[in-house]
Amino acid sequence: MSDPAIPTPAPEATPSGRRRALVTGASSGIGAAYARRLAADDWDLVLVARRVPELEALAGELEERRGVGAEVLAADLTDPDGLGRVEQRVRDDPALELLVNNAGFGTTGPFHESDLARQTQMLRLNVEALVRLTHAALGRMVGNARGEIVNVASGIGLMPAPFFATYGATKAFVVSFSEALAEEVAGTGVSVQVLCPGLTRTEFQRVADTDISSLPDFVWQDAEEVVEASLEGLRRGTLVVVPGLKNRLPLAFRGVVGRTLVRKATGFAGRRGWLRSL
Ligand code: NAP
Repeated sequence: MSDPAIPTPAPEATPSGRRRALVTGASSGIGAAYARRLAADDWDLVLVARRVPELEALAGELEERRGVGAEVLAADLTDPDGLGRVEQRVRDDPALELLVNNAGFGTTGPFHESDLARQTQMLRLNVEALVRLTHAALGRMVGNARGEIVNVASGIGLMPAPFFATYGATKAFVVSFSEALAEEVAGTGVSVQVLCPGLTRTEFQRVADTDISSLPDFVWQDAEEVVEASLEGLRRGTLVVVPGLKNRLPLAFRGVVGRTLVRKATGFAGRRGWLRSL
């Protein structure tokens, strides 16, 4: 812990004088929405994901429309080399003031029938990459007495999730890890937020091989609304952000009915295939 009597040096500014944020999973969905919103707020960006054309198109758009710096850092975060390069980038960048650990995916279906390689790949992305990038950023941020980390979990991380067992468990890890870290760094000038979105219109459902697009409009949010809630949470210093009243209300209700009933109800829906297609 730093000695409060010793003034901490200000972090090095970027050549542009703007703050810099690194967003993982920036090639689509919530990550791309973060990048657009942060660029509108005059942040320089480092955009991380695997799909280079999507990242380059986004970087071009941000540079042209917003006049900010946008660097493409293509990497597969489940690959040791890819993750190592991003870790290095985070560790070596004294101007990095915001890390958004957003890249993630889910699968649905009975765990015992699942492809185990895909499950362990999910653990590497949703858990290992997030932990390692947080570690790469946090020491320097605490040293600078300045910085913010946003870890994207899910509402599912706050409840038992049959038929999303591994995904739900990775997101429960992200919630617990982030809550604990936030307390560890309290008073250092660094803040940690965990974002728990509900159903959000992105590529997530396609990747998870679910088709629940027929669910009514009112249950969905746009990625932009989710990001707005997260950034508002950063301004207010909210640790656990659940975007939208429609997502907060059922979670409050969950406290009343208890975890057992939520587990049984989700299990019932999953056994009837309702989580896969509606
Ligand atoms: P999305 O549109 O599928 O975006 C996922 C992002 O992660 C993409 O940019 C993808 O880029 C990147 N990614 C996937 N695998 C990667 C890998 N191995 N290495 C690097 N990047 C990788 O879905 P989204 O909804 O925006 O998801 C963002 C976060 O929100 C995830 O953590 C998800 O769990 C969470 N979330 C989503 C919902 C929802 O309903 N959409 C609800 C709750 C929580 P590439 O394919 O180009 O690598």
